[in-house]
Amino acid sequence: MKILSVNAGSSSLKFTLIEMPEKTTLASGLFEKIGLVDSRYTIKHNGEKIVKEISMPDHSKAVDILMEELISMHIINSLDDIEGVGHRLVHGGPEFTKTVVLNDEVIEKLIENIDLAPLHNPGSITGMKAFMQALPNVIQTVVFDTAFHATMEETEYLYPVPYEWYEKYKVRKYGFHGTSHRFINKTISEYLHRDDLKIISCHIGNGGSVTAINAGKVVDTSMGFTPLAGIMMGTRCGDIDASILEYVGKKTGESLSELTNDLNKKSGLLGISGVSSDSRDVEDAAKEGNKRAILAEKMYAQKIANYIVMYNNLLGGADVICLTAGVGENSISMRQMIFDRVKTLGVKIDPVRNDIRGKFSLISTDDSKIPVYVVPTNEELMIAIDTMELALQNKK
Ligand code: AMP
Repeated sequence: MKILSVNAGSSSLKFTLIEMPEKTTLASGLFEKIGLVDSRYTIKHNGEKIVKEISMPDHSKAVDILMEELISMHIINSLDDIEGVGHRLVHGGPEFTKTVVLNDEVIEKLIENIDLAPLHNPGSITGMKAFMQALPNVIQTVVFDTAFHATMEETEYLYPVPYEWYEKYKVRKYGFHGTSHRFINKTISEYLHRDDLKIISCHIGNGGSVTAINAGKVVDTSMGFTPLAGIMMGTRCGDIDASILEYVGKKTGESLSELTNDLNKKSGLLGISGVSSDSRDVEDAAKEGNKRAILAEKMYAQKIANYIVMYNNLLGGADVICLTAGVGENSISMRQMIFDRVKTLGVKIDPVRNDIRGKFSLISTDDSKIPVYVVPTNEELMIAIDTMELALQNKK
């Protein structure tokens, strides 16, 4: 069964075509700058990569080209070979708590909630509509980044702000990276043959979030109403005092949306180091003695360590800690720096085991109180698994 896993943005469309249940990636690619002058696409298949520049005024054109290329590159014989399309959506609002089958009614509800993710959801919805048009008879699903976090209790998801903000405007913690945290939960639970694990899942990439999971249910997560909250990230600040906005705005004359943009795009590793949002660049600068890069790395590690300690308390003692995403999977030195700061939990990293990148591995010592694993994430596969399951149910 061939399933397309899709992640559409306002001007981009990423796809992975996966053979299920074998989990084999048949092709993947990216359509970029859709609607702009220099639009282009890349498709990878069988170790080869094609790159073409072509006018794509909208997502429908990109989807049409994708379908033509899949056939002309002999990746599929006809469109009938595609038996499901799963769409990633950043924000499902409070209503969507699991993956759903896409239809016109769902699209309407998503549009009602556009306010909650004005930068992300519109592009994804445009992508969904384009695929619904191109493949009208194929089951399509929506997989929400927020859904896995729907099990949080009020005590965790409410902010201590006027209650009407929640009642009238849906202001609450939603949490993000849910598809990745769910994949980590599934992978480590299957590996350890347990479905009752207390897991601290750390998704540390350009964006980052830490999630406390108990027996498959999220207890708390570090991102909040938006992905701005929680740990320090590549360009996002994470948790800060909200009063800073008014204070700095009065000094600089910046509007609230300009200041929010500063917190999303000019803060985090980039803001502190002044070097880059990419952890590799910051690591290199720190090695050369750049003081602000050294400071940025220390702050970054400390904020993650603080969440790990806090969630260990919330879970009443974690059974396992997992690290994933770009930094979590690849940065040997950052992993060490983080766990140097959680020694109170009796967690010990084995420098030899930690000397790996991008592969499933135990990196803690045998006498570490909590085992620590690197677990490469695969959100596309999680989307394909959900879509396959709904496609099979639909056939019954
Ligand atoms: P992601 O958002 O998951 O793609 O992660 C992006 C982050 O992962 C960037 O900060 C990269 O610098 C970091 N990253 C990717 N590969 C490596 C690596 N080999 N060593 C250190 N950091 C890496």
